[in-house]
Amino acid sequence: MSLRDYPVSLELGPHDVRIAIHTVGICGSDVHYYTHGKIGPFVVKEPMILGHEAAGTVTAVGTEVTHLKIGDRVCMEPGIPDLNSKAMRLGMYNVDPAVRFWATPPVNGCLTPEVVHPAAFTFKLPDNVSFAEGAMVEPLAVGIQAALKAGIKPGDTAVVMGAGPIGMITALSALAGGCSRVIVSDVAQPKLDIIGKYPGVETVNVRNTKLLDYVRATTEGWGADIVFEASGAAPAVLDVANVVAPGGTCIMVGMPVDPVPVDIVGLQAKEATLRTIFRYANVYDRAIALIASGKIDLKPLITETFAFRDSVAAFDRAVEARPTDVKLQIVL
Ligand SMILES: [Zn+2]
Repeated sequence: MSLRDYPVSLELGPHDVRIAIHTVGICGSDVHYYTHGKIGPFVVKEPMILGHEAAGTVTAVGTEVTHLKIGDRVCMEPGIPDLNSKAMRLGMYNVDPAVRFWATPPVNGCLTPEVVHPAAFTFKLPDNVSFAEGAMVEPLAVGIQAALKAGIKPGDTAVVMGAGPIGMITALSALAGGCSRVIVSDVAQPKLDIIGKYPGVETVNVRNTKLLDYVRATTEGWGADIVFEASGAAPAVLDVANVVAPGGTCIMVGMPVDPVPVDIVGLQAKEATLRTIFRYANVYDRAIALIASGKIDLKPLITETFAFRDSVAAFDRAVEARPTDVKLQIVL
């Protein structure tokens, strides 16, 4: 990994905007491409710019763009579908097989001074939302997608398995979506301590306490209305059917590296619903609105900010995976 001059097209189409990048968050997928050079079928075969969680300022607008102007502070959705695809027409453009996603080979990412992006996937930030928060909208969108798919009812009890950045963000999304309480489980106490500071969040360290015991003890033995599996760990996936309440909903957020067992009969015996999510679609406006309204405060999750010239050090820090680090960001 290095910082260097690298040719990128900044040609502005009529429906595009050009953006001076301000802040880029480092995501687990960026780190994985750095350390392993591939994620599943996506293999880095030639130099690739990393980064897909970004906010910046509009520096040019295409002739057909009406909702953005030069100087607007914005954040960007990193996945661009084929606008004429069936998935797009169905409103599920996140699963368009033709989607082009920043920093997913062979598509370059946005950790670079300027990018050109479709205006339709570029969102104005309210004045009270910082660039740092704007760069958090991308991971927040995953949590919002999970909360939407869960069909949360006011007062529901949710469990979130896994206190990584996405697990934490999913917990906050579930609370904002109407859950009365969210129980977050993990093996790393420092992570639980960070998310446990939020009102409405309870934590269970599964090294000391069985999650099922805690959930039963605090739900009169009924179980959790919603279970978000955000660890991708096989034992957690298997435990989903135990922890969910009869008639409840399980949302698979984490992505196990290999296929893992699921307790189908356990789910059937409760008539539980199992749903999956893949990234997000049509949620950026909701995510921004929840930050702007103060209903979701992501600032405590931004652990440290690095200068662009220190980007390699920032990635090496991310590789360390300190349990006290949630989100590391780079400012250009
Ligand atoms: Zn990400």
